[in-house]
Amino acid sequence: MADKWLRLGNPWEIPRPEIAFEVKFGGRTEAGRRDGRYRVRWIPDRIVRGTAYDIPVLGYGVPTANLLRLWKAEALESFDFQAFNTGNYYGAVLEKVVSENITKVLYPNDESPQGKLLRLQQQYFFASCALQDMLRIHTQRGARVDQFDQKYAVQLNDTHPAIAIAELMRLLVDEHDLDWEPAWGITQRTFAYTNHTLLPEALEQWSVPLFAQVLPRHLEIIYELNHRFLDQVRRRYPGDTDRLRRLSLIDESGPRAVRMAHLACLGSHAVNGVAALHTELLKQGVLRDFHELAPGKFSNKTNGVTPRRFLLLSNPGLAELLTRTVGPGWVRDLDELRRLEPHAEDPAFREEWRHVKSHNKARLAALLQQRTGVAVDPATLFDIQVKRLHEYKRQHLNVLHIITLANRLRRCPTLEIPARTFIFGAKAAPGYYLAKLIIRLIHGVADVVNHDPRLQGRLRVVFLPNFNVKNAQKIYPAADVSEQISTAGKEASGTGNMKFALNGALTLGTLDGANIEIRERVGPENFFLFGLSAPEVRALGARGYRPLDHYEQNAELRETLDQIASGTFSPGDARLFQPLVDNLLYHDAYFVLADFASYCAAQERIGAAYRDPEEWTRMSIRTVARMGYFSSDRSIREYCADIWHATPEPIALTRISE
Ligand SMILES: *Cc1c(COP(=O)(O)O)cnc(C)c1O
Repeated sequence: MADKWLRLGNPWEIPRPEIAFEVKFGGRTEAGRRDGRYRVRWIPDRIVRGTAYDIPVLGYGVPTANLLRLWKAEALESFDFQAFNTGNYYGAVLEKVVSENITKVLYPNDESPQGKLLRLQQQYFFASCALQDMLRIHTQRGARVDQFDQKYAVQLNDTHPAIAIAELMRLLVDEHDLDWEPAWGITQRTFAYTNHTLLPEALEQWSVPLFAQVLPRHLEIIYELNHRFLDQVRRRYPGDTDRLRRLSLIDESGPRAVRMAHLACLGSHAVNGVAALHTELLKQGVLRDFHELAPGKFSNKTNGVTPRRFLLLSNPGLAELLTRTVGPGWVRDLDELRRLEPHAEDPAFREEWRHVKSHNKARLAALLQQRTGVAVDPATLFDIQVKRLHEYKRQHLNVLHIITLANRLRRCPTLEIPARTFIFGAKAAPGYYLAKLIIRLIHGVADVVNHDPRLQGRLRVVFLPNFNVKNAQKIYPAADVSEQISTAGKEASGTGNMKFALNGALTLGTLDGANIEIRERVGPENFFLFGLSAPEVRALGARGYRPLDHYEQNAELRETLDQIASGTFSPGDARLFQPLVDNLLYHDAYFVLADFASYCAAQERIGAAYRDPEEWTRMSIRTVARMGYFSSDRSIREYCADIWHATPEPIALTRISE
């Protein structure tokens, strides 16, 4: 179903029609000499106008607002009178429709060639509008273009806006008449790049013919950058042609493609990962050659989450208890939560802590009832996995355990384990077939489990549709257990792991992403660890991993997979889940079967621990008390100090009336 979120307009955005720029597409270039210098002119075959829309972002309890400036694509001429007058009524509005499509939706990165074309146009459109606007402000203030980097820092949030590096070069050299070398210095000092993924298949590349069609001038600029860059590499590593091939901005191993991550590294003075393990793996893996060239560029900036949204706003019950216990300072300085720790030993405080959690679970139960019709009991253990659906995040590992648990409970009705409610929320990318099949499986398992009289009061499974931030605010505060079960070495950081722990959930997790740092800070005794480590995953992969061994040797796993394969969870379509089962048995790139036994054992430890509510509550309190480091305030301060060299600007503190 379409989410028609703009049907009543957007009261928060302020149109700024007086702030508009032209963005060119396609066409060709013309080189020549002008004023005695080599100059290139870009003759586009289409021009689109980008108009600014501002969304004010208020500071917390301060009289300042930052502007989030968004851009809408419009046709320069919204109506073609010539076409209209010659009877071509459709043609008369076509240009308008085609132009506006650029910012209609976010184009996914796994699409058809037509979809890919629109995505590249979209990335370039936003990058160009933003840079033209920065240069406009900079020069209107009377500053010189060659001082641009002294006033602006541009952080590339993944490679999606990395085309901005070539665009700034074009603006400086072609439109502001700077020479190449100084322009490149300004560009490198302006940009920094944050990498967000270790999955090589997720690193963006654009086919050279597509790129040439949309951005002919930028392709020339990238070729020139590459030429100069590879000359330097050649001088430093004479004869090392393999290294040249690996470092090149152009991938020539198959059909030629522009490597956006390489452009981002080359054009930036700082490159960072988003968790300690992630940064280390970047340096050893996908960005190894760039690290060897310039190790000083690299640093780690572990992610954080905002305590204003993900605690104060989303968990008013806990926020009130925290403020009453340690004072209100934690909202701005999350380290203040440290002072909570002694209260873990206070039985009355623990009782209040549990009361808040029960209230939040009842609130989520009401939402689940309303959205799905499934009734869940807030007195049961809430075990929650909410995140985008991806094989590496291993929602299917969670499902395999649920089926196994159901089998155990049917076989042994007196099993002394706490009643559990497993809650899922996840969106799949539009073209990701296996991800959608896993969502289907979760629903199939929920249908069987929730209707089995032998499992009544012991086990429930619910899938909450439309996982977004608004729903998330009701979900994270209601969790007892946080599922952070990605294959070690695959999750860059995760932030859901932080939101859960900040709201008092205990983590069931692998040594992956920021889980490692969360475990170090909350203490290993308050973290349910399982699974292979990143080096173990790598070693097993190199040895030759045979998932079938686990199927053959683990009777419970075999029973579970046989049930999925034989249609137990897909009545009327026994073969529905065969592709998923085959993938696990014969491929299992994410080591689900290898970690299955360890995961089940950790779930057993959780069941035992949950039966001691006083100790469980102590663990929950200590977890929250030790989560201060994972505030986005800390994270942003590190970007300011180490990358942007931005110092705090004092603001006038006029009192805000209540
Ligand atoms: C925090 C959050 C995420 C990221 O979750 P991970 O578990 O870190 O993958 C995704 N979607 C929404 C809506 C979130 O709030």
